This record gives sequence, structure tokens and C-alpha cells, in this order.
Amino acid sequence: MARDVATLIAGARDGRTRDIARLISLIEDGSAQVPAVMADLAPDTGRARVIGITGSPGVGKSTTTAALISALRERGERVGVLAVDPSSPFSGGALLGDRIRMQAHATDPGVFIRSMASRGHLGGLSATTPQALRVLDAAGFDTVLIETVGVGQSEVEVAAAADTTLVLLAPGMGDAVQAAKAGILEIGDVFVVNKADREGADSAVRELRNMIALGDHPARGWKPPVVRTVASTAEGVGHLVTAIDEHGAWLRESGEGHVRRLRRARDEVEALTLAIVRRRLETGTSSSQLEAAAAEVAAGRLDAHTAAARLVDGV
Ligand code: GDP
Repeated sequence: MARDVATLIAGARDGRTRDIARLISLIEDGSAQVPAVMADLAPDTGRARVIGITGSPGVGKSTTTAALISALRERGERVGVLAVDPSSPFSGGALLGDRIRMQAHATDPGVFIRSMASRGHLGGLSATTPQALRVLDAAGFDTVLIETVGVGQSEVEVAAAADTTLVLLAPGMGDAVQAAKAGILEIGDVFVVNKADREGADSAVRELRNMIALGDHPARGWKPPVVRTVASTAEGVGHLVTAIDEHGAWLRESGEGHVRRLRRARDEVEALTLAIVRRRLETGTSSSQLEAAAAEVAAGRLDAHTAAARLVDGV
């Protein structure tokens, strides 16, 4: 391993923000150093609690994240935040637009906040986010919050990386119905009706509770609570933290936490395996074999299935 990378790792272990940020940049850039970095960090991982935060744009995710940071800091936890925007080509330390409210925490050494873009990177979102998580885990953060900016499949992917997934909704947006349609009713461990200072909060909570009762939540034994918050004044955030803690306790006692971590590791290995295969086919020694196989298939001397099976064996 390069000496400068070893220095970065040592700095990250000591919780130095700049070194943590640079390690995450290596991951985003798909640096050849990453496998060595991850191997070095692996023994120090597995301790952080990972909380995913999803919901439609404008529902209050950033505000809630900032309020959660404050609440967790008050009890002495170190908190990492990864704000993932799957549609954005931008990444790095810059806090964009509506993340500004998190800047109150930007100078706190017990808080690390990072925007991440994942488009086009090796293995995509499903590979970069878990690796960045491991860096924060090894750096000793007690809780890592992953906030998704986009909607859709990426939210489901991010939820898969979390121990506890919060789904945020707001009154009057027909959000409960939308949630059901988008399939995020299934991924929520804790539901938050934010903007509870607005009209329609009670009916949103009721509607949501009904849908949860009707729905077939995959994790049996845990009935997702519905918490109401006014994130902008931190009202209800104490209850939210309690709900998150209770879900954490249930994860440990039921064994579901272990099941989720296994699934997460499997997803990560799978994504990296596919990325390696793709890269070798594009640039490695296998790329010439691919060209040769293509010529055979085009000439009708070989079928595509056989060619593909041979290629995979050789990759
Ligand atoms: P995000 O897009 O989901 O991250 O949403 P933001 O956290 O950026 O919030 C969107 C807007 O809603 C901002 O103007 C916030 O100040 C406002 N907001 C957030 N939480 C609340 C709340 O509980 N009540 C009210 N009235 N406004 C809120």
C-alpha cells in the first residue's frame, strides 16, 4: 500500500475529518488503492448503527437529519452523514443548496457530513455507499445517517444498506398513497409524519397506520411505529430517537439485525463481483477474448450462450 494511503488510514482511525474525506474520495474515484484500504479497515468495522432516511423531495429529510444530529450529539454520540444523490454528477465535501442547514454541525469534530454522487462509479450506489459506510464505521462513528436525495429504486437500494430505515411523509401531499405506490411502505421500519404543525397531520398518521396494518411488512414481529415531528423546531425528535432505539433493540434480540447485515454484505460482494467482471471485459485480458467470441458468434460457428459461459469461466 502506498505510504500516503497508510497515513490517510491512520488519520481516519483517529477521526480526522480531512483524512476520512479523502478516503471516501478514493472510493468514489474507483482508485486502485481501495481494495487494500477496505482490507485494512475491515477488522474495525461492524460497530456503527446505520440509519437510512428516505422520502419525497421537500418532505423535510435534511431538516430531520440536522435535528437527529443534534439529538444524538447531546448524548455524546459521534455522527456521520452520507447524503446520497444518485442522479447527481457532483460529489465531494460541498454542501449543496438545501444542505446548508446542516452547516451548523460542519465545524463540530464529532460530526462528519458528506454528499456523495454515485452515477458511473464502479459498482454504482450499491458499491460506493457501503464502502463509505465502512470508512465511517472504522473511524468510530456511533451512528451513520444515510439520506437519499432522489426517489425510486435508489431509495430501496439505500434502505438495503441501513439497519433502520426511516420513511418521511408530510401531511396533505397524498403521500401515504404515493408511498404505497412507490413501494416504500415495505422498506420503512419507522414512519415519520413530518410538518405535523400543518393541517392534515392527524389524518396522515391515521391513513398511514391503516396502510401499515393492512400491509404485509416483511420483517415479522416488528410493527413500524408512526412518529409525528416538526423537524424545523425539533418537536417530536425525542420520540423519533426512542423509536429508532427500540427498533435497534428489536434488531439485536430477534436476530433480524444479523440477517440484514448478511444480506448487505452479500449485496456488496455481488455488486463488486459484477463490476470486476464488467471492467475485465471492457479493458482486461478478457476483452480480446470477448472480441474473438463475438467474431465466432457472428460467423455462426458458436452460439452466444456457450460463448458467454466460456468467457465467465475465464474472467
Ligand atoms: P428535503 O428535501 O426532504 O431534504 O426537505 P428539507 O429538509 O429541505 O425541507 C423542505 C422545507 O420544509 C424547508 O423549507 C424546511 O424549512 C421546511 N420544513 C422542514 N420541516 C418542517 C416542519 O416540520 N414544519 C414546517 N412547517 N416546515 C418544515
